[in-house]
Amino acid sequence: MCGTILSILSTKIKNYATKARKHETAQNLFVDTHFLTPYHNIVRAEIIQDYAPCNQDCIFCNAPPDIPPGLPTEKTRETILQLLNDGVEKIILSGGEPTLRKDLVDIIRFARENGAKIVEIYTNAIRLDSPKYTRSLVEAGLNGAFISLHHHDEIISDLLTRTPGTYSRTIKGIHTLHRCGVPITINIVVNSGNYRDLKAYTQFVIRRFPYIDAISFSFVMCGARAQKNPAMVPRMSKASPYLKEAYEICLKKKMNFANPGCGVPICFVPEYYEYCFEYQMLKSQSSSLRLSMQRNETEKMKLPMCTECVFNEYCLGVWRGYLNVFGSDEIVPVRDGVKLR
Ligand code: SF4
Repeated sequence: MCGTILSILSTKIKNYATKARKHETAQNLFVDTHFLTPYHNIVRAEIIQDYAPCNQDCIFCNAPPDIPPGLPTEKTRETILQLLNDGVEKIILSGGEPTLRKDLVDIIRFARENGAKIVEIYTNAIRLDSPKYTRSLVEAGLNGAFISLHHHDEIISDLLTRTPGTYSRTIKGIHTLHRCGVPITINIVVNSGNYRDLKAYTQFVIRRFPYIDAISFSFVMCGARAQKNPAMVPRMSKASPYLKEAYEICLKKKMNFANPGCGVPICFVPEYYEYCFEYQMLKSQSSSLRLSMQRNETEKMKLPMCTECVFNEYCLGVWRGYLNVFGSDEIVPVRDGVKLR
C-alpha cells in the first residue's frame, strides 16, 4: 500500500535515523485546547505543550523541526497553579514527548496535590514499556493517557515515525499502562501514509486494545514538518470516506471515538457531528470551555459559505494552513437537517 509514500519514507528514514537534534535555548510554552476523554464527560482542560524533545521524529509532526528544551520545572509548576486557580480541572502534559522530562513524576504529583482531578500525558508510550517507570507515574497521580499510534503495521508505523523499533515498544507501553489502571485514548494523526488503512487500523486497535476509552482521529496539520513534506497531507475530501468507515466500525463495536479539534471540520463528516469536539464544546456554551479553544479560534478561519451552514454556530472553520495549500473548493456547507449516526 501507498507505494510512493513508502518509498519516500524509506529513503528519508535513512537520513533521519541518525540525525542529531539541535535544541534551541528558548522555551516555548503553549497552552492549548484539547480533546476530552471520555468524550461526553466535559471538564475544562488545558494542554501544557512545551515542545520538549521527542524520541520519535514523525514526518508529519506539527512541532517545529528543531525542538527547544522543555519548560523548566518551576515555570511548569507556576503554569499549573495558574490554570488550576483559573478553574481548570484536567492538566494535560504534552511535548515533544513528556516522558523524556526528568521531572515528570514531580510535575504530576504537584498537579494532583494542588487539585487537578485529572493529569493526562500525550505520549508515544515508548518509555512506558517499562513497568517500573509507568508505576512511578501512576503512583504520582497520573490518571490519563493520550497515546499516538499512527499505523497498525509495524513497518509502516516505524517509517512514519522515522524511528525504527519503536512500534513494538509503544504497543507494550499501552498494555503496561492499562495494567496500571490508567484510562487510555489512542490517537492517530490521519495523513497520506495511513488514511487508506483506517478501517484495518480501527479493527486492529479495537481487537488489540479492547479496554481503551476511545480512539481519536486527528488530521495532519499543514505546518512545521508537514510543510516540508507536503505529500503527507491528503485532501480532507479524499480522507473523509475512510474516516466515516472507521467511525462506523467504532459504532458497531461500541468503541467511543472522536473527531478532535485538530480533526476535519464537521462538514466533512456531518452525520457524526455529535462526535466532533468543536460541536460539543461550542454547544456547551461554557465560557471557560470557550477559553480552552483560543488557539483554534486564531488558527482556523471561516469562509463566506459558512454562513449557509447549519453548523456555523458550532464550528470554528478550517485551519488557515490547509486553506493556503488546498484552497476552499472542498468546503461544502451543510444545508439540510443531518441524520445523526
Ligand atoms: S461552518 Fe464552514 S467549515 Fe464549519 S462545518 Fe460548516 S461549512 Fe464546514
